[in-house]
Amino acid sequence: MRHLPARGDWCMLGACREGADRMSAETAREIVAVYRELGRRGLNFGSAGNVSVRLGDEMLITPTGTTAETIAEDQLVRMPLGGPVPRRAAPSSEWPMHSAVYETCPEAACVVHTHADHCTALACLGEALPAFHYMVAGFGGDTVPCAPYATFGTPALAASVRATIAGHSACLLANHGMIVHGPSPAAALEAAVRLETLARQYLLARAAGQPRILTTAEMAAVRRRYRTYGVRPRAR
Ligand SMILES: [Zn+2]
Repeated sequence: MRHLPARGDWCMLGACREGADRMSAETAREIVAVYRELGRRGLNFGSAGNVSVRLGDEMLITPTGTTAETIAEDQLVRMPLGGPVPRRAAPSSEWPMHSAVYETCPEAACVVHTHADHCTALACLGEALPAFHYMVAGFGGDTVPCAPYATFGTPALAASVRATIAGHSACLLANHGMIVHGPSPAAALEAAVRLETLARQYLLARAAGQPRILTTAEMAAVRRRYRTYGVRPRAR
């Protein structure tokens, strides 16, 4: 899976409507693959989670009530960011939350929302994931914050996410679950797996004692290191 250009980019490249439709079909395959993989990895159960991809000023999102077993590409809903929901379409009830992430985080190309066990357990304590491990810095801040509770599928939950996720690539949802975004479907899936792993490790550490929380200076050093991590020196 690769980075998906905004729909405007296709026009700039001279792509016609056919090209856009082909791109949309490929995106649908990627979304279905991510949704099934979330189920396979135990990060999503039943119809709880949802996945979307930004298509310029629109998004393609999983339908309401689908599961890893029943999801199909032709069920996905293409709709404007911010609505309205097209007639006879049935997108995930959490579409306002997905829209809020795209509007708040311009770099977001794919959004994944699940009720993964350990993220949800921590969210039910109403706590952020603190800097107990240096990899928390990979989500953009010194913590992965927890958005205050609001009823699922409501503009109030979307507003809570909007106010919490700015500057981060993920947040927990109090008494609900988690939401992450990435620059591609593959990256968003990987981020969801990474966040759930960190939440599990944090709860394990909490069960065994009181983990030491890294200082602001230690987390700043991690971010500096991340900026050059994996960058190979130029061959001379
Ligand atoms: Zn949910």
